[in-house]
Amino acid sequence: MRRLPVFLVIDVSESMAGDNLRSLQEGIERLIQSLRTDPYALETAYLSVIAFAGRARTLTPLVELASFSPPRLPLGSGTSIGAAFDHLMAEIDANVQRSSAQRKGDFKPLVFLMTDGKSTDDVGPPLARWARDYARRVNLVAVGIGAHAALERLSEVTADVLRIETAASSDFRKFIDWISASVSSQSRSIGIGEPARVNLAKVDESVMRKIESIAQATAVDEDFVIVAGRCQKSRLPYLIKYERSGQAVATQDFQIDPVAYDLVGVFAAERDFDALSDPRANVRTINTDYLRGSPGCPHCGAPYAFAACACGQIFCVPGPGSAVCPGCDSEIGMGVAEGGFDVSRARG
Ligand SMILES: [Zn+2]
Ligand SMILES: [Zn+2]
Repeated sequence: MRRLPVFLVIDVSESMAGDNLRSLQEGIERLIQSLRTDPYALETAYLSVIAFAGRARTLTPLVELASFSPPRLPLGSGTSIGAAFDHLMAEIDANVQRSSAQRKGDFKPLVFLMTDGKSTDDVGPPLARWARDYARRVNLVAVGIGAHAALERLSEVTADVLRIETAASSDFRKFIDWISASVSSQSRSIGIGEPARVNLAKVDESVMRKIESIAQATAVDEDFVIVAGRCQKSRLPYLIKYERSGQAVATQDFQIDPVAYDLVGVFAAERDFDALSDPRANVRTINTDYLRGSPGCPHCGAPYAFAACACGQIFCVPGPGSAVCPGCDSEIGMGVAEGGFDVSRARG
């Protein structure tokens, strides 16, 4: 039996924390339920889920639909699209059977790569390798989630590039249904004979747009600040997310740009956060004067999640007094900060 290998390569960087990741988590479950009702897909489609942030990891190795169970999506720091491609190519080499003189191998694999950001690593060499050795024998569909997804480089290696315009959960469901319909249509068409190109389902223009030009593939400026912290008690990581508010005011004579960021929320990450994160140091910083609103710790409930150590670590404290930094283990007396201080902004 020839298989149709389907790889979902999912961006789990910090900017996905919250609604996007929850929608994707529900989306995978919805996708499986719907594909299992399709006898063609059930017979041929094999599914694998790969997550990437600063690094990439296989969450579910290629498995038939009937025995697939949806993995929990982790979180990590960074958006290494290059690392995701390297990992994907290794997975394809290891798991997809190529045709030989003796037997027919698997059908052309179908890859859905989803990202909401701009790559934080060098995508040049992996994409060149992809274009040279994989582009002809793998159908790649790149999906940008939201306006911040930079799709220029991806549009160099595939003609199938789409962007989801909004992040409303009903739109996300339509997007997942589109993936499901595309897998169904592909598994149906290979029953008749291998098609030259992937048979994607019709795009619902109210939700997604096919990217036709470089201008459309370009990202708009990021409106979020994400700060990574760690619980003093449990040592588990969390992400504090702020959204830009305020508009630049311009007159004929001068322009002021009153930048401020309002708290969106704080999101708990798990132990595997570091394993998926880029170990390189953060380089972008933001002064806390620009951040409005201070959350509590999502792990232990301590009211202050924004305590800072001289080593750069952000962590939670129950209040003033002595604390141990979960980053460098030094003991510090916590007082109330005067004025702002610079903290590292997490990568992609
Ligand atoms: Zn805590
Ligand atoms: Zn420290």
